[in-house]
Amino acid sequence: MTAEDCGLLESFERALRQQKLSIAYQPKVSLKDGKLSRVEALVRWDDPELGAVSPSRFVPLAERHGLIDPLTEWGLGTTLRQWRSWREQGLTTHLAFNISAVSLQRLDFPDLIEGMCRSLGVPPECLVLELTEGATQQLIKLMDTLTRFRIKGMGLAIDDFGTGYSSLMQLRQLPFTEVKIDQAFVADLPAAHDCRLIVRMIVELANGLGLIATAEGVETVEQLRSVRELGCDVAQGYLLSRPLEAGQLIPWYRQFKRRWPELIGAESLALWGNVELDSLS
Ligand code: C2E
Ligand code: MG
Ligand code: MG
Repeated sequence: MTAEDCGLLESFERALRQQKLSIAYQPKVSLKDGKLSRVEALVRWDDPELGAVSPSRFVPLAERHGLIDPLTEWGLGTTLRQWRSWREQGLTTHLAFNISAVSLQRLDFPDLIEGMCRSLGVPPECLVLELTEGATQQLIKLMDTLTRFRIKGMGLAIDDFGTGYSSLMQLRQLPFTEVKIDQAFVADLPAAHDCRLIVRMIVELANGLGLIATAEGVETVEQLRSVRELGCDVAQGYLLSRPLEAGQLIPWYRQFKRRWPELIGAESLALWGNVELDSLS
């Protein structure tokens, strides 16, 4: 381990222990009707000395040094409690939570997650676990664990699909419910003919297998319209919303309902009259 990693790990361990981390929530929107489909929990670490450190930097470090389980338990606990708070305010949504492949080695992991859902009063059906494809190299071996999640009612998404250790066999053999198309394929839409073909192919494959197809990294109106035309079911990205603090989600959604028709270029606003909160979930 480099001296830099060593210092980072030490600071991260302290931040985790002292509960100095936080969770940001990024909405995912149904491309059918603009409704909030689910909310992805993304861990944040803003260190007084180091500034904001990306999870892409500290999550792999936590995985290598035995800190991923405490991180997951803290993050999931925080996210499930937040779900309760949103529900009390009238918003019921699905949660998406990123899971490290390292945690999946633990045989008791599905029971642990289900136990947390039950004790915090969140139906397991409201939780979708996101697994990165890079991390799913050995997932064939983890079929049993993933099947247990499904039996308990949780959804399973394959994250960043199409890059890294891509394998169509994983889609065939593992019980996923959602495919998240990597932002690399969305970035050059709508101009890039090859990206249009790839996205269309993934959507067709996903839908044919009964899975939801989600487009990641949607940053422009043109990309949004393109992924919608290509048949994606759900979109996520900075155009729709950056990852938000928990308290910003409901105000964001009220505004977003008004923006939606314009974003997709809908001619009639009449369908979108009522934006009361109880019609939001
Ligand atoms: P991910 O699960 O694929 O999450 C999406 C990442 O893309 C997030 O980065 C998000 O902020 C970013 N993003 C969202 N919309 C856009 C967009 O329109 N354009 C661009 N350029 N980026 C966008 P973030 O938060 O830095 O997370 C990076 C990765 O770290 C995540 O990728 C996920 O694999 C991992 N991660 C985050 N939180 C957790 C966690 O609590 N546990 C575990 N195990 N991994 C986590
Ligand atoms: Mg994810
Ligand atoms: Mg992703």
